[in-house]
Amino acid sequence: MPVAIIGSGPAGLTAGIYGARGGFKTYIFEGNKPGGLLTETTEVENWPGEEIVLGPELIEKVHKQAERLGVTFVADSVESIDTSSWPYKLTLESGDHAYALSIIVATGATPRRLGIPGESEYWGYGVTTCAVCDAPFRKGQDVIVIGGGDSAVEEAIQLAPHVRKVTLMVRKDHMRAASRMQDRISGYKNISVMYNVDVLEVLGEEKETPCGTIKSVTAVRVYNNKEKTEFIMQDIKGVFLAIGHTPNSQVVREHVSCDEDGYIKAVGRSQRTSQEGIFVAGDVADHVYRQAITSAGSGCMAALDAAAFLGNIGFNEAYAEEIEPNLFYLQSDDHQAVTYINDMQDFNQVIQDNDGVVVIDFYGQSCPSCLQMLPVYEQVARELEGNATFAKVDVDVAEDVVKHLNVVKVPCIMVFKGGKPQETFYKTMRRKELTCLVSTARQGN
Ligand code: NAP
Repeated sequence: MPVAIIGSGPAGLTAGIYGARGGFKTYIFEGNKPGGLLTETTEVENWPGEEIVLGPELIEKVHKQAERLGVTFVADSVESIDTSSWPYKLTLESGDHAYALSIIVATGATPRRLGIPGESEYWGYGVTTCAVCDAPFRKGQDVIVIGGGDSAVEEAIQLAPHVRKVTLMVRKDHMRAASRMQDRISGYKNISVMYNVDVLEVLGEEKETPCGTIKSVTAVRVYNNKEKTEFIMQDIKGVFLAIGHTPNSQVVREHVSCDEDGYIKAVGRSQRTSQEGIFVAGDVADHVYRQAITSAGSGCMAALDAAAFLGNIGFNEAYAEEIEPNLFYLQSDDHQAVTYINDMQDFNQVIQDNDGVVVIDFYGQSCPSCLQMLPVYEQVARELEGNATFAKVDVDVAEDVVKHLNVVKVPCIMVFKGGKPQETFYKTMRRKELTCLVSTARQGN
């Protein structure tokens, strides 16, 4: 393919629009988080031309625009690239390979974790980075948001309508968030800010239920770095992290120059990297601006740089036609292999008299991670049809099933064998993990 774009946030999608409009066959490898971090935000009011638009809605519009202009979307992740020969070889998570004349890396950044005791233990059981996903599970409870940037304010505002009380835990005596963002907090009576505090530990408890052990957060241990005192904040049921991001440059790190924090270095006032034919766009190269609009702008620049590169090597339509058959094949399969469970009757039908493995994906319509995982889940279901039964539950529809199985968070994957629950995972699962859990469940007793 002439242009391969890795990542489908504002940077990747805009690069796609410019690549396709430039007359190049352009492919976007969507990755495990199609749409990127913008799908986890709510109101965006700094995107020119849109007074206020929801993050997922904005991404959907740009996606449609790219699709209309001829971009091909590939529901797969790039695991590695090989630059030892050219066209560059991309190895995908599915095991497929693609060959690209130019690559635009728009892989974004991942929310950081604190690394404190209890964080991993209660991850998914109250500790999370996604307020949009988990707020409905914290109804009437007290929660904290750690961080003092725009994301922390946004998380607090997303949580406020659901929870009893949100406390923003800021490590300095001031917040980094833009003053306009900070002003928004004053409109919410149940949001307060605690300054000069470091959260040292997440505390919780475990309860045995018929469906296994359920963990939950109960409190946090906090250090006041001004007064040099320690205290326990009791009755905290949710810990939301908003402490910045780490660039997702792993796939290309050994092929292009990066700074000490892992951000890919662009050459001069361009989106070129140190490797010819590889370009970069968005948050994976930007630790300064990190806005949707600057990501989109750099996506445009990267595509124009890629077009100039292709022009310089003499790429033209005749050449494209000649090499196209050797570059990439896409098979589309829309066959449905996942059953809907809408109530207990459906659930019993799927589970009863089923000696084999049953996998159920619990998702919420307002949970971006769930909606991002659904196409991957459906793809795996098609690939493994006959090896297991795959079902999905919309948690807002099948409330009785959710209650019966004690689902405390989405996304949630439950595995049953011989009608009995085997394992529960509260996380977004990648294609490999889903495939692996089915084969493990089939092998187990
Ligand atoms: P950020 O601006 O880097 O802020 C990170 C916050 O986390 C800072 O307050 C930082 O504290 C704190 N922090 C970092 N490590 C910590 C630790 N170990 N313990 C406690 N606190 C810690 O990240 P962000 O808020 O995710 O924003 C990223 C970018 O996206 C920014 O450019 C922002 O403007 C943009 N954004 C915009 C919007 C919007 O416009 N609607 C919404 C969200 C994000 P210190 O200040 O002490 O370093």
